[in-house]
Amino acid sequence: MSIPPKIPMVDLRSQYLKIKNEIDAGINEVLDTTAFINGPAVKTFQAALENYLGVKHVIPCANGTDALQIAMMALGLKPGDEVITASFTYVATAEVIGLLGLTPVLVDVDPLTFNIDVDAVEKHITPKTKAIVPVHLFGQCADMTKLMALAERHNLYVIEDTAQALGADYVFNGSTRKAGTIGQIGSTSFFPSKNLGCYGDGGALMTNDDDLAAKMRMIAHHGQRIQYYHDVLGVNSRLDTIQAAVLNAKLPHLDSYAAARNRVADKYDAAFANHPKMRIPARAANSNHVFHQYTLVLQQVDRTALREKLAAVGIASMIYYPVPLHMQKAFASDRYQSGDFPVTEMLCASVLSLPIHTEMQEDVQDYIIKQVLELI
Ligand SMILES: *Cc1c(COP(=O)(O)O)cnc(C)c1O
Repeated sequence: MSIPPKIPMVDLRSQYLKIKNEIDAGINEVLDTTAFINGPAVKTFQAALENYLGVKHVIPCANGTDALQIAMMALGLKPGDEVITASFTYVATAEVIGLLGLTPVLVDVDPLTFNIDVDAVEKHITPKTKAIVPVHLFGQCADMTKLMALAERHNLYVIEDTAQALGADYVFNGSTRKAGTIGQIGSTSFFPSKNLGCYGDGGALMTNDDDLAAKMRMIAHHGQRIQYYHDVLGVNSRLDTIQAAVLNAKLPHLDSYAAARNRVADKYDAAFANHPKMRIPARAANSNHVFHQYTLVLQQVDRTALREKLAAVGIASMIYYPVPLHMQKAFASDRYQSGDFPVTEMLCASVLSLPIHTEMQEDVQDYIIKQVLELI
């Protein structure tokens, strides 16, 4: 294998080619039956994911953002209620809080794991607080032990945003649980580049609570339990049968995909550990890591110049995320100003994510490592 002229962040094509037969067969079956909406593959996938996660209910839906919205609707959150989430995350989490007329209360993150700082959560709890949304950022779980204990003390719901960590394990009070199955509700995304990605948009909710499962299923289907009888205002959020067919082909590979990502991460770690200009990703307690992203914290480095130099030798890199949520125009409010969340602001100014995916070739990664060490 030679070094390709352009090394992307993810290589979905090589992954597809390896499982092309399974994928194509699944898609062709849907085409043959024309069961495009709620076809048998959706039910099969739901059951397979319930089994994989060890959770009672999976509710497939159209994307990870809808999943978060449906979760908050099912919990009966009302305008004025406060929902606490991290300032260092993808916008979707806070976006739906705002869209539902709830108040997003952002808090800072832990500098080592990049995940929500549970002590900061505690400081922001008020009588209006109703829920906490931890994000398992980049592939490892937030401190669910401490967070669930805090939520129980204050009688708050926990919705785990598992869009980046599907398949991660967390040791919760002595038993191993899958990310997304510890809080009252978990949400996830099957966006193509996520760890379990389909070939378009897709998402799901998970819960062990029968009542919440029924409510979420109803909300995702126009608020109906029986066709054409609408009990509540809902949304239209379905997982397409074709996407379910893709996911049925890919779910059996999810653990080996996580192992492949870990091999890439371990190799980066070995090459970059103790380098004066970068800090390798820390491993969170009680969680394993499924490395949705491999994210370095740069120290005293001109990040823009480094990214340009890497791009010039064909290496993609990304900044997840360049602007903290509290500094986004969409969330501008008297509540926040620059300097409020020093860890998030430091991370936004200094993180750099390198290519990581299931099909990384050794010699390609060697080339990336050599160039990073030379150009930093
Ligand atoms: C991708 C992502 C989402 C949203 O998922 P979509 O399927 O793109 O709507 C939500 N939260 C986080 C943390 C994500 O990474």
